[in-house]
Amino acid sequence: MISIRIQQLTKRFGPVTALQHLDLTVNPGELFFLLGPSGCGKTTLLRSLAGFYIPEEGTIRFDDEDVTRLAPHKRNTGMVFQSYALWPHMTVAENVAFGLHERKVPKNENNRRVAEALESVHMHPYADRRPNQLSGGQQQRVALARALVIRPRCLLLDEPLSNLDAKLRLEMRSEIRRVCKEFRLTTVYVTHDQKEALSIADRMAILDGGRILQVGTPREIYRRPTQRTVANFIGETDFIPGKVLGTGENFVTVETGIGRFDGVLGNPAKPPAVGGEVTVSIRPECWDLHRGHQPRNAVKGRIGESVYLGEVAQYEFITGNGTKLKIFERNPRFGDGPDRGELFATVEPADVVVLVD
Ligand code: ATP
Repeated sequence: MISIRIQQLTKRFGPVTALQHLDLTVNPGELFFLLGPSGCGKTTLLRSLAGFYIPEEGTIRFDDEDVTRLAPHKRNTGMVFQSYALWPHMTVAENVAFGLHERKVPKNENNRRVAEALESVHMHPYADRRPNQLSGGQQQRVALARALVIRPRCLLLDEPLSNLDAKLRLEMRSEIRRVCKEFRLTTVYVTHDQKEALSIADRMAILDGGRILQVGTPREIYRRPTQRTVANFIGETDFIPGKVLGTGENFVTVETGIGRFDGVLGNPAKPPAVGGEVTVSIRPECWDLHRGHQPRNAVKGRIGESVYLGEVAQYEFITGNGTKLKIFERNPRFGDGPDRGELFATVEPADVVVLVD
């Protein structure tokens, strides 16, 4: 298991700066995700780790070894691409063995390692088939076996599941986590799929404009975004502008156009001043609906548009001043007939995230 330490990494493509003085440490054995809007630099960072791009500034270290300018084949990283990149004329076993031939591993050792790698992704029975005789999920398992067989120092995954249908993606998600943990591999995984990241990541980084905005566990990132861009990127949320009325030991009180809220700071290192302008972020599933008046963190309103989905209903909640909030109700009881009248929506202070920028 190695650590990956990235310091002040800058990569430019002509006038475009794809990575800007980026610092990041991935811990040994960690399954680490890179997430962010299109063009934020995820792929550039992954390719710099693999050695396909050489940065203009900064360093990449695998443990204590500086690999910043090392050729890709000398880094011994296992890479899995979205497109599988399997050779169509070779069998599954030959595809997996390919990287070993290049490394001049002796033949009997070679066969043992191919069998082991195929077994670890449950593809042993398919060793003699060709890629076009396999399903998408099976091809992706072969691509994973091919990355594992070289006993890589770390695994780099570039949207490995995006060509699979939804059900297979779910299955392969947990397979990838199982394999990474079984092989005790430090893994960096690029995806567009937030659910993929939230469900299996140990930690993740949110990138924007070639910089890292926040690093944390899935729960930290989802529940305590430090800034608006992160809250907006991960999951759904409503942003409500307001002014700080006061700060307590564990919470901040904010006056907004729809009422007064006690909440928590997204970034405790940057507390706002009393009177300072802030944004309150509240996720749709954090609200509770009631018929009667509620004393704290409550908004009066009525349900407008509603979408009933069985286990959950999605409401447009229209407050007294016309502000529209998204509210999701689990085990829906409201939103029908008489319940379309006046209601109170409440939210726990721990679910009200106060953001300074
Ligand atoms: P996506 O989610 O769309 O795959 P990304 O986050 O992986 O995006 P990158 O592919 O890393 O983003 O691109 C970062 C920036 O660098 C973008 O502005 C992109 O246009 C630019 N870029 C990437 N590769 C090159 C290249 N080979 N030549 C020129 N510009 C590039």
